[in-house]
Amino acid sequence: MPEVTLPLDDELFSKLQMAAALAGMDIESFLATKIHQHSAQLLRDVPKQWMPREQWDALVTGETCPICISLRAGEYIDEYGYTVADLQVSRLRLNSDQFTPGYCVLIAKTHVSEIYHLSQEDQRRYFEDMMWAARAIDRVFHPLKMNFEILGNALPHLHCHMKPRYYGDAAPSQPLYPEQEAHLLSAEAYENGVRLLREALDEMSR
Ligand SMILES: [Zn+2]
Repeated sequence: MPEVTLPLDDELFSKLQMAAALAGMDIESFLATKIHQHSAQLLRDVPKQWMPREQWDALVTGETCPICISLRAGEYIDEYGYTVADLQVSRLRLNSDQFTPGYCVLIAKTHVSEIYHLSQEDQRRYFEDMMWAARAIDRVFHPLKMNFEILGNALPHLHCHMKPRYYGDAAPSQPLYPEQEAHLLSAEAYENGVRLLREALDEMSR
């Protein structure tokens, strides 16, 4: 098995040594175990720098916002996923990368980069939409836990990642991120997910 030698400063070394001792391991086995456990996160292709400032500003104003372009096009299917429903102030989409089954994104219909830029009334409606969507996902996919992530550091147009979590998934006690290779489904499987989510939304509105 290949081996690596790592330079560590004294402080980090003693902290790791302490953590390893608490886990009843030597520091090498402790680090090897940790690296193995976190390999998916270590291998994620995360940008190390903010995009050029002009590019960011043009996204914030909405000028070049791909989410606005996708909303305007109104395609049922596009590279990001499948449209499930138009709610009060948002559009619910089943994400194309289904690395966690039932992963949806709730997109605000108006271009704002922050949820607090919406009027108070629309903030309330967006939250209600989120609750409707979450209950529908819960009915169809029966997750153990639901994660709501409003980030927007890559695409500053208000959207919420709704990630169902399941017992035994890869990142207990942490947010779950996609793996390098997208988990794509057959067209039938997406259609089926969309149909079940729509039925759940219909049943809830009765
Ligand atoms: Zn936008």
